[in-house]
Amino acid sequence: MKTLKPATIAAQASGAIDPLTGGVVPPIQPSTTFVRGEDYALLNGEYAYARYHNDAGVIAETTIASLENAAAALLFPSGMAAIASVFRTLPNNATAVIQKGIYHGTTHWIRSFCQRRDIALHEIDTSDNATLAAIEKADLIFVETPSNPWLKITDIRAAATVAKRTGAVLIVDSTASTPILSQPLNFGADIVMHSATKALNGHSDVLAGVLAFKEKSHLFNRIQSERNDAGTVIGPFDAWLLNRGMRTLPLRVERMCQSAEQVAKFLIDHPAVDDVFYPGLPSFPGHKLARKQMPGGFGFLMSVLIKGNATNALQVAGRLNLFHRATSLGGVESLVEHRHTIEPDTGIPENLLRLSIGIEDPGDLIDDLGQALGQ
Ligand code: PLP
Repeated sequence: MKTLKPATIAAQASGAIDPLTGGVVPPIQPSTTFVRGEDYALLNGEYAYARYHNDAGVIAETTIASLENAAAALLFPSGMAAIASVFRTLPNNATAVIQKGIYHGTTHWIRSFCQRRDIALHEIDTSDNATLAAIEKADLIFVETPSNPWLKITDIRAAATVAKRTGAVLIVDSTASTPILSQPLNFGADIVMHSATKALNGHSDVLAGVLAFKEKSHLFNRIQSERNDAGTVIGPFDAWLLNRGMRTLPLRVERMCQSAEQVAKFLIDHPAVDDVFYPGLPSFPGHKLARKQMPGGFGFLMSVLIKGNATNALQVAGRLNLFHRATSLGGVESLVEHRHTIEPDTGIPENLLRLSIGIEDPGDLIDDLGQALGQ
């Protein structure tokens, strides 16, 4: 069959028509256990216990695998659980390379994990091709592109070349991109990871994570059995909500990107703003690469340096009426965050505000930012 476009895959993400009722939306099966007949055979061989099988989860995995052009996907109860499941496959004394300046929760957990497992950890700026090419030894390379909150763009093809040379597994956190904007497996990544808590679900009401694999490899099998046996599985309600959210993913992301470009253009010219980090701005260092690597658009996330200090930035955040002052990103509602408050010792500028642009009217968002900055 002809390959379907993302909008079609997502709109029909509910899977097949429910054979029992004809419903166009899949039912939720909350049962954790499944009965056996008098002969002690399972009524349906696929269903025995919910830790091993969850229909709504399988639908979400199938949808994400299609969107990412992946051989298979695995769903987790959070983005962090997905990341941890890959790192846990590393033997003691292995070598891991991660991008520096990424989501601090990821860095924080990986540091502590590598320390207690005697894994050599190198944090480097993977957005710099020379730094990337200088990697000599690695069992696993982890990059986040665009990075959060610096929006740095790593050349996935270049990272894949290094991964091949060193024999490392390349995993790309593509949360700020989504499969609508970029498909890292097409550039040579082995695994693409998303915090599905963000734009994939898009409604700020589900915690979830996903790994999509280029191949149904030995690594896939290992991570899948570890997930099921050790029990880092998502519940049916959350998986069902994720399916519902993903049906509108392309529409939401398209609108969010269009609005984000308008917001970024407004901010970069504003006298109360020092700088804007947004891959869609031609002045942004990663712009040219983003144009190639994110053919679907530049995303909905940006960081803004407000003229002045922490007080000035916090005052701007405090005056916003439409942007909710909250962490996270990728939801239908626009959010503003003063990252320095959350991670005061990681080098985030005190005057940086991170914006996640939602699906509201872009003119309203710009007006709100205008009044908060002082027109
Ligand atoms: N990766 C990125 C880029 C994130 O922004 C986050 C959370 O903010 C995570 C991973 C972790 O995902 P979760 O909060 O779903 O565990």
